[in-house]
Amino acid sequence: MIMDLHSHTHHSPDAAGDTVLERVAAAKRLGLQYLAITDHVEVNRWYPAAFYRKQETEQFVYDSERVFLGSAAETDAAKQQTEGITLLCGAELGQIPQDLRRSEAVYADRRLDIVLGSVHELPDMPDFFFLDYAHIDIPALITAYFDEVLALAKTDCYDVLAHLTYGLRYMPNRAEYDITPHLPVIDEIFRTLIAKKKALELNGSLLKSSDDTDPGFSLIKRYHDLGGELLTLSTDAHENKWLGYRMDELEQMAKDAGFTHLTVFRKHQPELVPLP
Ligand SMILES: [Zn+2]
Ligand SMILES: [Zn+2]
Repeated sequence: MIMDLHSHTHHSPDAAGDTVLERVAAAKRLGLQYLAITDHVEVNRWYPAAFYRKQETEQFVYDSERVFLGSAAETDAAKQQTEGITLLCGAELGQIPQDLRRSEAVYADRRLDIVLGSVHELPDMPDFFFLDYAHIDIPALITAYFDEVLALAKTDCYDVLAHLTYGLRYMPNRAEYDITPHLPVIDEIFRTLIAKKKALELNGSLLKSSDDTDPGFSLIKRYHDLGGELLTLSTDAHENKWLGYRMDELEQMAKDAGFTHLTVFRKHQPELVPLP
């Protein structure tokens, strides 16, 4: 098993209690070559709630600074104890366009190898996880979502674009949603990644309960056929038991889409790793 480059430890508010070294031990048992720790840093909620004159709720968790400092320190220190595996210090930076200056500061932290760029929510809305899709104009929502992903893609505060189709992840009957009207903006996102030498993530989180991936095979292939060469694989594990889950299927999907290599990042520099 080559890599799992998106993984949450006890520092992430929505993850189980696993420490970085417990995750590393699980990765070694699986025979992973590369593991990235990428705890949640929702940059639009960097400070405690009081800073924004808001209340902390289940839907809006604040103080990402505390998550980032704890996760980066623990992962950086753990690098001393990782013979046999390459541990990458990372962060999942959410909502980059909502605070570009703070995102630039996080990205420049010298401990970081890899930064995932994510859109989990639109301005003044909760995470897509919490949305009531039965009472929402879904095409308008998804149009706004991909516009926000494109805005993120155009920044320089990330190395990997995470879960491209997150806005559809929690939608009922998502398999039946026609993404054809969104293909022009998706192609623009892909061309932006390619021009900037950023990677696309094939995220297997949905494989826990379905056969879907994020994005699906057709979009992975579309990215490849447009000239995309940099691809990462991840489970987005929030607890040890999901690390590496169905990773052999993600590797096969990458090969079937035409990829001969995967990509890892060390200090934000892409390195190609051959697919066996
Ligand atoms: Zn995410
Ligand atoms: Zn994640």
